[in-house]
Amino acid sequence: MQTSVEQTAQKQPAFAGQRIGRWVIERVCPTLRGPARFAACTCDCGKHSIIKIRYLLTGRSLSCGCLGADRRWRKLARLETAREFRRMWNLARVDFARVSDRWRNFAAFVDDMGFRPRGKGLIRLDEGGAFERSNCYWGTRRRRDLAGRH
Ligand SMILES: [Zn+2]
Repeated sequence: MQTSVEQTAQKQPAFAGQRIGRWVIERVCPTLRGPARFAACTCDCGKHSIIKIRYLLTGRSLSCGCLGADRRWRKLARLETAREFRRMWNLARVDFARVSDRWRNFAAFVDDMGFRPRGKGLIRLDEGGAFERSNCYWGTRRRRDLAGRH
């Protein structure tokens, strides 16, 4: 079974020539059916590797590790995800929205959703629905939502 995170990631394009951090996608690995899951990439330092497309699109992998950027990114991403996590709880209180029991725990939330991709926010598919894995994805927040951010 696919997770909502994977489905969300796969809706976005990954294409040859695309640059993500220090990675450049050489080719998207073909699959017999369903969306491609891996891409052959070359790092700026010259190292080749097969990387999960989901890791590329969520920013989890930004280089072969040569720069140490991945580590710094994770630290920052964790902080930003924690901010979004608190925002979710505030929003849930205001909206009287349910938050899944599992998401009382930040680590479980990260486990389900991954880190917040840069510039994205936690969006509910059904805006009146619960904050839970099946109803949430990382997406671009609309202006109306941004206004209520602080
Ligand atoms: Zn490298």
